[in-house]
Amino acid sequence: MKIGGLEAGGTKMVCAVGDEMGNIMDKTVIPTGTPEDTVPQITGFFRGKGIEAMGIGCFGPVDLNRKSTTYGYITQTPKLPWVNYDMAGTVKRELGVPVGFDTDVNGAVLGEVAWGAAKGLENAIYMTVGTGIGVGVYLEKKLLHGLMHPEAGHMLLGRHPEDSYKGRCPYHDNCAEGLAAGPAVEERWGKKAVELADREEVWELEAYYLAQAVANYILAYSPEKIILGGGIMHQEKLYGMVRAKTKELLNGYIPKREILDGMEDYIVAPALGDEAGIKGALCLGAMAGKESE
Ligand code: ADP
Ligand code: ZN
Repeated sequence: MKIGGLEAGGTKMVCAVGDEMGNIMDKTVIPTGTPEDTVPQITGFFRGKGIEAMGIGCFGPVDLNRKSTTYGYITQTPKLPWVNYDMAGTVKRELGVPVGFDTDVNGAVLGEVAWGAAKGLENAIYMTVGTGIGVGVYLEKKLLHGLMHPEAGHMLLGRHPEDSYKGRCPYHDNCAEGLAAGPAVEERWGKKAVELADREEVWELEAYYLAQAVANYILAYSPEKIILGGGIMHQEKLYGMVRAKTKELLNGYIPKREILDGMEDYIVAPALGDEAGIKGALCLGAMAGKESE
């Protein structure tokens, strides 16, 4: 089956034609402007390519409640032209195929479960640390939505006693995204994150915050695997630091081999690399195609 995948982000829209095995045949990237500019370019790319289903992993917040009249809408995003935009409905009307719709990070965790680092597992978490922090949660073989969808990137954290940086989240003084997403790192230290590569204190502090979030995800969701992706995680030393600090914070409380003696396989990089998002969108499309059969 030919499937369309759209990874809808605040800066770029990644579009791909692939199949239900996660192979990508054709791909393009469109910069994110207004819906009026951008969406016709997206649908134009897919039209005439013979796709039978479409999957969208979207920046949020989004409405995922199938009973809601605004199901498939982007809701109150800071990206103003997209507020209350009917993303899934528009694409479905334009392309005339079933559309699977979820958050970008729920798509990514699904892709990693289908074809990546969490292959075959029933419980996994994907955390992206990039321009924002987003968390996708897959539990007992299903993506978690609940009241809205998890917003665990805004998990509230304890501040480092020596960190006087004010934080960047307009809602919370001390949430993970406000303290540890890329823009927070860059504003706190006054340099691009890549240029801070050899400043050990930068990554110590980063790991201090990320490990708190990760420890809380373990305590709350009991995942079998945690996948950390996004631009900031290109600083690979962070993996070891986050593993060690998470173990320290849990302090032996969870008596499982994965945590006591297997952190290297428990907190890992995405096996799909930077394609976790777009492959996840294909996976959402494959599911929508199957559901409609
Ligand atoms: P997005 O979240 O917009 O999808 P990314 O996941 O690429 O995009 O994250 C972008 C953030 O990651 C930026 O804040 C940037 O500073 C940071 N970043 C990108 N590459 C690196 C790198 N090699 N090392 C550290 N930080 C990086
Ligand atoms: Zn916040």
